[in-house]
Amino acid sequence: MKYKKSQVVMFWFLPLITIGGLFYPLLGYLVVAMMAFFLALSFFRGRYWCWHLCPRGAFLDIALSKVSRNKPAPAFFARQWFRWSIFALFIGFLIYRIIGTGGSLIAIASVFVVMCILTTIISIILGIPMRHRSWCVICPMGTLQDKINRLSKKG
Ligand code: SF4
Repeated sequence: MKYKKSQVVMFWFLPLITIGGLFYPLLGYLVVAMMAFFLALSFFRGRYWCWHLCPRGAFLDIALSKVSRNKPAPAFFARQWFRWSIFALFIGFLIYRIIGTGGSLIAIASVFVVMCILTTIISIILGIPMRHRSWCVICPMGTLQDKINRLSKKG
């Protein structure tokens, strides 16, 4: 599996956030900063983030591809209704957890660390029996980037 030099660098942000974030929860704000960056980027460059910079995408390409059985994901993964259902579930859960923090900055950062851990675990569970990037078909952030890029082309 070929990957880009930028991915080798970005790869390390995943253990930094998912493992480092357990000891230093404020690292969760790195996720927020990355989200702000890639959502702005997607306006001009579509899924550039996903293929060049995303730490989880880099992890899936560099590490998980080596153990993936590489079977196709079910066709419904790519359906809009399914992708947007996952998006609604993810965002709903995120908002629910943030409200539950009572406004504590450390607790909010922890929510992002936990979401990052959770989605990484799901990406591994999907990526071993199926294609290593199966999670990326339904990733809420990928869905959002696609939408923003489509809207920017219409404008
Ligand atoms: S789809 Fe999600 S996990 Fe995959 S590369 Fe894009 S942002 Fe990262």
